[in-house]
Amino acid sequence: MPHQLRKQLRNHFVISFVPFGGDIQDFIKPFLEELKKLEKGFVMNLNGINYWIMGGLGVFTADLPQGNDIAGVLRHNAYRGCRSCKVPKEQLTDLSYDIYYYGRYRQITDKEFQLINEQISSNAKSRFCSQYGLRSLPGPLDLLLHDHHLHTPQDAYHAVAGKIARLLDCTCSILTAYGESNLINCWKNIEVPVQWSRLPNPITHRCSFMMSDNLRILMIFPFILNRCLTVNSIKEDYLNSTCNRLHFSCQIEVRDYIIYTWALSAKAAKEVFSITIQRSAGYFKLQAILNEELEALIKLFPDKFQNLPNLHINHNSTIIANPNLLNYSEHSEIKLGQKWNKHQIETAGFVSTSLETNNLLREIINAYSSYYSFEQALLEPRVCFYENAIYTICQSNGDYYDIRLKVGEIVEVKLFEEDDSKFGKITGIIEHLWNNGQAFIFLCFKWLENFNELDSLLECSIYYI
Ligand SMILES: [Zn+2]
Repeated sequence: MPHQLRKQLRNHFVISFVPFGGDIQDFIKPFLEELKKLEKGFVMNLNGINYWIMGGLGVFTADLPQGNDIAGVLRHNAYRGCRSCKVPKEQLTDLSYDIYYYGRYRQITDKEFQLINEQISSNAKSRFCSQYGLRSLPGPLDLLLHDHHLHTPQDAYHAVAGKIARLLDCTCSILTAYGESNLINCWKNIEVPVQWSRLPNPITHRCSFMMSDNLRILMIFPFILNRCLTVNSIKEDYLNSTCNRLHFSCQIEVRDYIIYTWALSAKAAKEVFSITIQRSAGYFKLQAILNEELEALIKLFPDKFQNLPNLHINHNSTIIANPNLLNYSEHSEIKLGQKWNKHQIETAGFVSTSLETNNLLREIINAYSSYYSFEQALLEPRVCFYENAIYTICQSNGDYYDIRLKVGEIVEVKLFEEDDSKFGKITGIIEHLWNNGQAFIFLCFKWLENFNELDSLLECSIYYI
């Protein structure tokens, strides 16, 4: 199958394995036998027509330790425990380490496995295992047409969420009792997107946070700290030792550096999970911010972040990431949620379902003209209002993603032919039927006023809500 079709989600069947303590080798055996048959291919009769069916294993993703087991690489606490390269443990966060030169490549790994298996004494075997960072036996999937390394990629979601969980833990552990209660007060009152469910308490419940909780905390924590963190909130011994280590002249610089690091981590995560990435420029930007974040984290909490595998995975990710990611959307499909009744329309500040009385007629005619070059008078003077909408944006290569919008949310919007994005509050989601009966959806925004000023610490633009 061509690569373009192979990478489309619709051509993959996602299968999950949760062995709950069982041995993966036993557990996966029947699956491997069936997959082996599929790799060879067979004839299947569908509606009276014979088809030749073939298939195989695409990508295997797992937690860090299990992912290494599948790749046949030693666990991440071993001396060479990265499944993408042979980085030694003490150089995991060394940015100058040459990942290409010391990368793991299937043909080389196969030879190393062969050499390990040729050894007769168990001592010699284990010596070669630790030299190459490999297990004594290849992973369970090696019976299949499978690349140990390319088919078990590192998981950016786990790596980023794990790193943030650690940063949250480090930050909370240096707070005084006064600092904790300040933080909780601020955390209770922080404005969050309307669709968010309640977050568990970061002081008392952070150990039971899910990965998505950590990523949500990351989005708001720089602002929370900026509001509540003072020198009195931070334990004296941490303030003194950090001041000395980083050669700061006063303790307030430690407070500022903590907030700066959180803001940096939030911006790095935004780049990592960005839906599109610009060829070359986007990669440099991503790499630069990840490097900056790595250095800041190590400066702030050296014991916890020096040689952390998550940071090494981040560093690898821009090199491994597919450079064909940049594709602008080709078409989109929109699903509308709950329709507003008269009362809801009026509560939201609209007058009725008429375009004219809402002063929307001119704007809608302009939008039809500028986006679609429709230059006719509108036959339908009325519209319907909705509470929420889901866009499915499909790209020419078959990739797709969903965007969920809800009235009342503040969203970042990049307007057609404008370089910078804007922030706006969604005040209405409107459906209008064009003259041929086709439905078009319009979003009403109240744009936030940009003060054209950067917050000196968070380095983000300040808007008036
Ligand atoms: Zn590596």
